[in-house]
Amino acid sequence: MADTELMTIPGQVDPVPVARDITPRADGRVDLIGLPRPRIRELFADAGLEPRQAKLRAKQVFHWLYHRGVTDFAQMTDISKAMRPWLSERFVIGRPNVLEAQHSADGTRKWLLQTDDGHDFEMVFIPDETRGTLCVSSQVGCTLNCTFCATGTMRLVRNLTPGEIVGQVMLARDALGEWPKGTMRDLGEEEAGHYTADGRLLTNIVMMGMGEPLYNFDHVRDALHLVMDGDGLGLSKRRITLSTSGVIPAMERCGEEIGVNLAVSLHAVSKEVRDEIVPLNKKYGIEELLQACADYPGASNARRITFEYVMLKDKNDSDEDARELVRLLKEYDLPAKVNLIPFNPWPGAPYECSTPERVKAFSDIVFEGGISAPVRTPRGRDIDAACGQLKTAAQKKSRAQRDREAERKASLQAEKT
Ligand code: SAH
Ligand code: SF4
Repeated sequence: MADTELMTIPGQVDPVPVARDITPRADGRVDLIGLPRPRIRELFADAGLEPRQAKLRAKQVFHWLYHRGVTDFAQMTDISKAMRPWLSERFVIGRPNVLEAQHSADGTRKWLLQTDDGHDFEMVFIPDETRGTLCVSSQVGCTLNCTFCATGTMRLVRNLTPGEIVGQVMLARDALGEWPKGTMRDLGEEEAGHYTADGRLLTNIVMMGMGEPLYNFDHVRDALHLVMDGDGLGLSKRRITLSTSGVIPAMERCGEEIGVNLAVSLHAVSKEVRDEIVPLNKKYGIEELLQACADYPGASNARRITFEYVMLKDKNDSDEDARELVRLLKEYDLPAKVNLIPFNPWPGAPYECSTPERVKAFSDIVFEGGISAPVRTPRGRDIDAACGQLKTAAQKKSRAQRDREAERKASLQAEKT
């Protein structure tokens, strides 16, 4: 399958064929963003550099790309002037294309982005008093069709490449003006005071944008390694959270090979309701999922697993549901916290948000059961940037709408004949 092709969801829940690690460009040059040091070294050697040269240049270029955020080889001052055109003839330093940038009244920012081969996706930045969280997408669309999620209604799906994933973080640093000015060792004492290796605004990353990150495991892992690399973006794994709807076979690998915090979109406590609202449940059920959480490498009381629970009126929000949630989390002895997410509406959504009183009552029961259950304040609703509202113009009509239209067309045709 060509990288540029989109996949029509055939109505099942299996992974999407993977695009290669490099999206081909019309000018034949290779975008270095998304590539790890050894791969850069390999490309430099393939292009004719001696092995030792290739290794040294790869190390230097890697630092400039991911630690300093430069977008032009001309800015790489420790690389000889003669060498810089050699690089720019063969390589580029890409960023996702920005189609639109929006600001919410509450400070949330949303960017509509586009890959080089023309697919739209979104990222969101959510600042609050103590942290700045970037919500990163892993796929264009999502194959999983959770009934309360706008992304799930997009029919076309493509995995994002590591470059397109880490590119979101880099773009956010560009927009926030947050690249470190150098390395500590290059700076005089006075300047070192201004050095911001960790940034001040963008402090946390959540893989909670469009898509199911564990259905694009390799690319998400490679991108997050660049984010966590001390000579790359340098963000601690403790500040990164990956959210999954419950792709059990990839969860252990996630803990072992990425090592970030885990969030699980539980959303229901009975098979009947979860089968309906998170269809992946038909494949990987609640008990198996909770067991996989109990086995998640690195989970502990200091690093709890977050269980996300969207509050849907009269669907999953009763007192009994809350009590059953506590029972289940205790049965599996999980180091858990619960995140209650008020349902964010989108056009055509078949649900309403639970009343504030209901959300409070639910939260109280879980708290009384000894498990923290804060209610997440919706952010950026006015620009459709809140959880579950992400959806690009690639697919404006809901699946239900399309099916209705197809039926109408078929019956009109039947009338004619
Ligand atoms: N695919 C992954 C990560 C992206 S969704 C997952 O499902 O976990 C991030 C979170 O937003 C998930 O918990 C998801 O269930 C939740 N969500 C989706 N649609 C929502 C909506 N309309 N209102 C509130 N939360 C929603
Ligand atoms: Fe996909 Fe997550 Fe939305 Fe479900 S909630 S459709 S898994 S993005």
